[in-house]
Amino acid sequence: MNKHDSERIRGMLEGLGMLEAATPEESDVVIFVTCCVRESADTKLYGHVMSLRNMPKREGSPLDERIIAVGGCIGQREGKALSQKMDHVNVVFGTRTIHMLPNLIDEAINGSASSNTSVDEGGKTFQLPIHRDASWAAWLPITFGCDNFCTYCIVPYVRGRESSRELEEVIEEAKGYVSDGVKEITLLGQNVNSYGRDLYGSPKFAEMLDAIDATGIERLRFATSHPKDLSDDVIERFASLGSLMPALHLPVQSGSDRVLSTMNRKYTRDHYLALIDKLREANPDIALSTDVIVGFPGETEEDFLDTLSLIDEVGYHQVFTFIYSKRSGTPAASYPDEVPREIAQDRFDRLLSVVEKRALEANSRDVGAIANVLFEGASKKDQGVLTGKTEKNQTVHVAGSGICPEDMAGKIARVKIEEAKTWYLKGQLL
Ligand code: SAH
Ligand code: SF4
Repeated sequence: MNKHDSERIRGMLEGLGMLEAATPEESDVVIFVTCCVRESADTKLYGHVMSLRNMPKREGSPLDERIIAVGGCIGQREGKALSQKMDHVNVVFGTRTIHMLPNLIDEAINGSASSNTSVDEGGKTFQLPIHRDASWAAWLPITFGCDNFCTYCIVPYVRGRESSRELEEVIEEAKGYVSDGVKEITLLGQNVNSYGRDLYGSPKFAEMLDAIDATGIERLRFATSHPKDLSDDVIERFASLGSLMPALHLPVQSGSDRVLSTMNRKYTRDHYLALIDKLREANPDIALSTDVIVGFPGETEEDFLDTLSLIDEVGYHQVFTFIYSKRSGTPAASYPDEVPREIAQDRFDRLLSVVEKRALEANSRDVGAIANVLFEGASKKDQGVLTGKTEKNQTVHVAGSGICPEDMAGKIARVKIEEAKTWYLKGQLL
């Protein structure tokens, strides 16, 4: 969601004649789009902002000083207080006031620190111009906010109550992307499965998938799915919709029923595993990924072993593993029986070794297969290597093709998979 918000900010500011600077030193305005889901992201923001404190303004800058704007979740949570904590922050905006950024920057240029983190402004970001990172891929938000209140999570407090965009409006946006040559659309929401509950006629998420498929888009993905709301209709679409890619991110968080209940996740381990069975019935080759938190307050060794066995049993392509981070204002912040850091770290390390083993096994099954790869350009590490994503969302590197990576960006081509690594594949263009 932050990447999408950043693309809107770039589009909006370019429309006003501003240009993106390559480095903070060369900039007149620096904008931070922040996250506060875990403490580490919070700490990073303060470090980055403080590093700008004594940076001289750009040579030739028409401004009296460099303008620093902080938005996203931390901006929302802190509001004006942020520019009191760090007095060189000139602008604070929130998760629902991105469209106000030009005015806020203008006010700051004219000398007054400005902030607007109102949550009553609605999610108007989608009405803004956009400059996408990749011309062939588009993020498409369908809901804003979250009503689930998992007890560890700050998101409902900083992104507000869940609200859905009108189905027709989303379809129009998708049609526009298809006619612009976009190959892949990723629908976004904190819980896409509850899409439409607040709209007249309660359109279902499965209907949304059908309608986006009908636009002629080549690749369709979505994130994130909450297991309590993943319906049989949606699962069936993995068998029937040509554009829906065979990959699903389905955060489990824990394999212990007791922990799932104190997390307020509203499903059991058995329910989750039954969903996995149904998904594999719909498409036996579907690639699954998940999120796991270790060290949630009260998590015992036995609870953790339940998580470990679930991860081993499912055999994910990718698992995002997190050590529980206490977020003030959430219910879990006051739960007793905090897990000591060393124990949480030990569990994290043990989990990672199972995750890595199973991810390598999952990738290894594709050696010898032919994959359709949407190329993105050059690999970060080697400018001569082409990189892209399979339909299952695996990263693929192709070396020695002799083709300029920029020429392949945005194109789909067939690749023979020759080698599997834990987090990527290697292959040759056919
Ligand atoms: N709405 C999405 C994304 C939520 S944030 C979802 O429900 O999946 C992404 C991930 O961050 C979560 O799935 C969870 O695993 C992790 N997370 C959220 N709050 C956390 C916390 N306080 N400590 C550690 N990890 C957390
Ligand atoms: Fe946070 Fe739960 Fe909402 Fe995801 S579903 S954003 S984890 S409260």
